[in-house]
Amino acid sequence: MRGFYEIAAADPGRAAVVTDGTVTYGELHERVNQVSHGLLARGVRPGDPVVTVLPNGVEAVTMMLATYQIGAYHVPVNWHYTAEEIGYIVADCDARTVVATERYGDAVPGGFTEPGELAGGRPVTPPEGRRAGSMMLYTSGTTGRPKGVRRRLLDLSPEDLYPILMRKGWRHFGLPFDGVHLLLSQLYHSAPYGQTMMALNFGHTVVVTERFDAAETLELVERHRVTNAFMVPTMFHRLLALPEATRTGHDLSSLTHLYHGAAPCPPAVKRAMIDWLGPVLWEYYGSTESAVATMVSSAEWLERPGTVGRAIDGLEFRILGDDGAELPPGEPGLVYIGGVNRFEYHGDPAKTAGTMRDGLYTPGDIGYLDEDGYLFLCDRRTDLIISGGVNVYPAEIEAVLLEHPAVADVAVIGVPDPEWGQRVVALVQPAPGVEPGPGLTAELLAHCASRLARLKHPRTVEYRDRLPRTPTGKLSRSSLREAYLPA
Ligand code: ATP
Repeated sequence: MRGFYEIAAADPGRAAVVTDGTVTYGELHERVNQVSHGLLARGVRPGDPVVTVLPNGVEAVTMMLATYQIGAYHVPVNWHYTAEEIGYIVADCDARTVVATERYGDAVPGGFTEPGELAGGRPVTPPEGRRAGSMMLYTSGTTGRPKGVRRRLLDLSPEDLYPILMRKGWRHFGLPFDGVHLLLSQLYHSAPYGQTMMALNFGHTVVVTERFDAAETLELVERHRVTNAFMVPTMFHRLLALPEATRTGHDLSSLTHLYHGAAPCPPAVKRAMIDWLGPVLWEYYGSTESAVATMVSSAEWLERPGTVGRAIDGLEFRILGDDGAELPPGEPGLVYIGGVNRFEYHGDPAKTAGTMRDGLYTPGDIGYLDEDGYLFLCDRRTDLIISGGVNVYPAEIEAVLLEHPAVADVAVIGVPDPEWGQRVVALVQPAPGVEPGPGLTAELLAHCASRLARLKHPRTVEYRDRLPRTPTGKLSRSSLREAYLPA
């Protein structure tokens, strides 16, 4: 099969999207055509941005395929955002078309169109002049204002685009053509967006959830015989926290490809997941800008715990020091990727240039390669703590603290210190029923003592009811650091 259009033509009765009801490939194709006609009638032209503020569901999926059929840029926006945040993105990308449902009407002050209005009464046949569109996703902004990442538009028909994407990147996912994908994350993030596109081009049935619920996830896997899904490490935590009886009470044997990425997964958590589900975890590393850059199976990871994998075909990693010189295996430096597809930050060429060096792109992570080219990440450069002149990586300390059963979640940050430059502070969310206080602090420090060099021990442990994590599980460490900056 050659992607969505061929599947819709050859097997229109196949289930495409499952929510409360089921929409088939044939029906989805017709909806996509109707919405495409609606967008064209509103004056959307190739290269124009189309902003959508929609929860996961048939409409969100339809908008994705419709913009990709008329050469537009799809800009799916986080529906958790406030009116001000949405306004910022609409203005930043200069969108004249905003598609939302009534539910988010208040957050879209400039006016919006409902998907039903776009589709209403329009032909179910493909529009004239179709051409391949693309996406412009805004990053979650854990390192500053959200940035619109614009991929290059290709001069192709939509039918030709999908098989090219399948050949280029999706083959690394090792998926069979028939399967059931469980969508658990929000479609405005690049990983679930890419996964859903991939599923619909592999003829998979996409079972859609609007938000993640750990117990419900297990039920859905069993009920729909789910074969693949994408998760972020926060979801692993929640699944592992379920009562033993709930975890073992479901037949999860259909699940062969559980992908994860987007945020560091503490090794102890990953091991616990593999112990439970078997070698079905596949991790990848990348960014909105680079797309998927690595892929690592459970077996490879167990041989080299902590790795995020090797560069996929066509890409290569280089680790560069501050002076731009290439560093040898084992030595941490800034991770650069060669061979990524062209992208740009919308309206910010200086920012685009700032991520590039000699044609290589950096996502801003610090890491090192082993002798065989496997990448190990230390942390994001902006989160690096320099204490007494020594580099300290928060992710490493967090992974150790998370192994302690009294810790539900943790953020490690560097705060200004007159003597050390920065000192290590751990903000701990205690597990349910655990009493925070000096007793717990002493226990956590003792736990670190046997596992981490002294300079990595937190100088201060504070307690929080909850830590700020983005929906993809990234810690917003910059907002935590702000509280410690001099007034
Ligand atoms: P911003 O830069 O505005 O914070 P963002 O964090 O949303 O944006 P993304 O493109 O979603 O941007 O995230 C890319 C980053 O996610 C990578 O640079 C890396 O830090 C992290 N990441 C991705 N995959 C993994 C992984 N497998 N393990 C650890 N970290 C990962």
